[in-house]
Amino acid sequence: MQEKALYPGSFDPITFGHIDIIERLSRLFPEIVVLIANAPHKNYLFSAKERAQLVRDCLKKINNVKVEIHDGLTVDYAKKHKSSVIIRGLRAVSDFEYEMAMANSNRHLNEDVETMIVFARPELSYISSRMVKEVAMFGGNIKELVPQPVVKAMQLKIKGKK
Ligand code: ADP
Repeated sequence: MQEKALYPGSFDPITFGHIDIIERLSRLFPEIVVLIANAPHKNYLFSAKERAQLVRDCLKKINNVKVEIHDGLTVDYAKKHKSSVIIRGLRAVSDFEYEMAMANSNRHLNEDVETMIVFARPELSYISSRMVKEVAMFGGNIKELVPQPVVKAMQLKIKGKK
């Protein structure tokens, strides 16, 4: 495909599940833009800048990936930067309703932007940022869920909170 693809999300923090999706997409599209959401109503553990830096640190080996912080609608970013593809991951049926509603509202906002759903790799489909945070808060091992830079950042963040 000739287009750059947008991969929007919270990435609070980035996990091996996100990275797998990005690696797979980076072979299909000339450029992937990881769009870090910064919604005022959401309570993030990491700031948008910290989340963006962690994504950059974890994706050094993939050279057609760009990381941007965006605090508006994804379709507006798509229009401004001439992209018409939004990628979202699907882990389980529980993700389905939310992703379908999101895809339909984005289509309602802009008919020219298409949402494409990529299925999570089964062995990574249980991983979520929320689960990473919960396990880390209680001192559990997150090394199989997130790359080393995130393990380190989580440890520092938790220390700072105690
Ligand atoms: P959001 O708050 O927008 O859902 P997330 O960072 O939780 O942001 O997720 C971004 C996208 O990545 C979503 O489409 C989500 O379904 C997908 N995703 C999250 N975890 C995984 C995983 N383990 N495997 C594949 N896709 C995932």
